[in-house]
Amino acid sequence: MGVIPSLTPQEIWEAALGELQLQLSRPNFRTWLAKTVGMSYQDKTFVIGVPNAFAAEYLEKNQRSLIEKTLRSLTEPDVRVVFQVNGRSHASDEVSPEAVIPPPPPVFMRLNPNYVFDTFVEGEGNRLARAAAITVAKHPGQVYNPLFIYGGVGLGKTHLLHAIGHIACASHINVICTSAEQFTNEFLSALRERNTEEFRNKYRSIGMLLIDDIQFIAGKEQTEESFFHTFNELHNTNRQIVITSDCPPQAMHLLQERLRSRFAWGLTVSIEPPDYATRLAILHTKAAQKGLTVPQDVLEFIASREQDNIRLLEGSLNRVIAYAKLLRVAPTLETAARALEDIGSREHPTTDLTPAVIIDAVSRSFNLTRDDLLGRRRDKDTILARQLAMYLMRRETNYSLSRIGQELGNRDAAAVTHACKHITAHLQDNPFIRRKLDEIAGLLRPKSHVAR
Ligand code: ADP
Ligand code: MG
Repeated sequence: MGVIPSLTPQEIWEAALGELQLQLSRPNFRTWLAKTVGMSYQDKTFVIGVPNAFAAEYLEKNQRSLIEKTLRSLTEPDVRVVFQVNGRSHASDEVSPEAVIPPPPPVFMRLNPNYVFDTFVEGEGNRLARAAAITVAKHPGQVYNPLFIYGGVGLGKTHLLHAIGHIACASHINVICTSAEQFTNEFLSALRERNTEEFRNKYRSIGMLLIDDIQFIAGKEQTEESFFHTFNELHNTNRQIVITSDCPPQAMHLLQERLRSRFAWGLTVSIEPPDYATRLAILHTKAAQKGLTVPQDVLEFIASREQDNIRLLEGSLNRVIAYAKLLRVAPTLETAARALEDIGSREHPTTDLTPAVIIDAVSRSFNLTRDDLLGRRRDKDTILARQLAMYLMRRETNYSLSRIGQELGNRDAAAVTHACKHITAHLQDNPFIRRKLDEIAGLLRPKSHVAR
């Protein structure tokens, strides 16, 4: 696939990043790739700007082939990757304005300019967290202290944290927004360099502390100790503390009890995965932010595929847009399906299936209606179909035996056990069963994209 001149290296790189973040662990992606930019693309050489020599070396050694493979799927089959350290660009006239690498962040994390309340889409799953965040941003130290926000990966915790930071900064509050990881590193290097006093003064003097991913310090005794004192000093003087975590305080078993109980002093709110309507609204917002019009059915398609990680949702949108651009076509349902095909099979093997989807696929494979399958028919085919449905539910969902029985027309758990044993016993010697299972798996795959 040839590259389109109108696509900047940065746009191609963003599409590649969208895919890379699906393939790498989150810390890995964040540490090594999040701050990279697509600098130039010329003569089959793609130059990626990285923040420091260390990152260049790491990527060169460990991720080159994956990165090249990903870029090749978006550009040319023999493109070569070069990592280049910040500022030393030999192809500076190629660099688009947005591709200029920002200087390394100061000790505390800079606020992401996109993470503001205006761009945060409200939905059922985040309503409480958003409202609480707005409240503490407007009345720091007065209402809930600390505010503790927890939830799964990619659900908007960091976004809310920074949004609070923006408002506080605008009110001239001296804010530190940092991750627990960064806090730890900073503390350890203060220990090493024997300037813990400076470290303590820095944190004591601030007006608000926003600390991301606190789970990171759990079990790190000295850091916990240091954080405990910081917390107390700030809390005693009514300075606002906001903490995010991947789980609620009481589930942080490695954490000292005194910190765990303090975390729950104020308000603890969770962020739940977005429902379909929220996912769709988020996609609309993201497309609008990029100044793009993406057809409604394409957005619906993406929203229906990606369940509970908004970062991945965004990644899918980026990929569809880049793919359509490279093919010089408007993003249609068909292009979207193709753009996301690979990711689909990787991200959602056949897991995450619901009984309804399985029942539908099995009935189609046997040319039965749903009612036939759930009803009282006793012919050989229907019985086998029912048994296969039970077997697949057992294998692909975590429903209990009795729940599976209920789903299949209120049958009892013993019937499900019998079905699973029967299918397992005949998998090897009965080619018909194997063929049917293959066929159903085929029906489940495309289905799992749209019907969830
Ligand atoms: P977390 O910190 O919970 O892992 P992030 O705050 O980093 O998640 O969010 C991941 C991505 O999803 C970010 O780009 C963020 O802007 C976006 N995002 C999350 N929630 C929302 C939302 N409600 N509205 C708009 N964008 C969101
Ligand atoms: Mg985060």
